[in-house]
Amino acid sequence: MRKKPDAKALLSETIDGKLLCEAKKMKISEVRVKMVSNKDDRLKAFCSITMDNEFVVRDIKVIEGTNGYFVAMPSRKMSDHCEKCGGKNHLRARYCNNCGTALQENRARKDFKGRMKLHADIAHPINSNCRRRIQEKVISAFKEELEKSKQPDYKPVEMDEPDDDIPEIVS
Ligand SMILES: [Zn+2]
Repeated sequence: MRKKPDAKALLSETIDGKLLCEAKKMKISEVRVKMVSNKDDRLKAFCSITMDNEFVVRDIKVIEGTNGYFVAMPSRKMSDHCEKCGGKNHLRARYCNNCGTALQENRARKDFKGRMKLHADIAHPINSNCRRRIQEKVISAFKEELEKSKQPDYKPVEMDEPDDDIPEIVS
């Protein structure tokens, strides 16, 4: 008779109070890094990650914060509609793009620190364990690419660049 595998050995971590089997966790199978050359910019690279060899998330950003590099998940600028004409405006716009009406300032929702919430994540991890795994993989791939980029015959990765707006995230 075959012995059952030791279930405990497969259970490595707790996520939101539930034990999660190591084999069932999403694996990041590939990270692609496109360096951003502007030296003064806090935005250092655009990345894409592939999960389990079958799902890709693009437009991830590596940003240099005051405490080192951090990863910003893809996000979009939020907008709202002008009360007068219904035109769509970025939350920071002071006048309607369409009719020129003065818009109410500070109309964006505030985050817990009282800062205007101007961006919304498009894709993001829902627990800190996953966030940490993505962060580690992406930063380490970024550092490898950074070393490679110092070589004279370096060829940058082909990747089209999304907007280079840095979301208002704490590092
Ligand atoms: Zn308007």
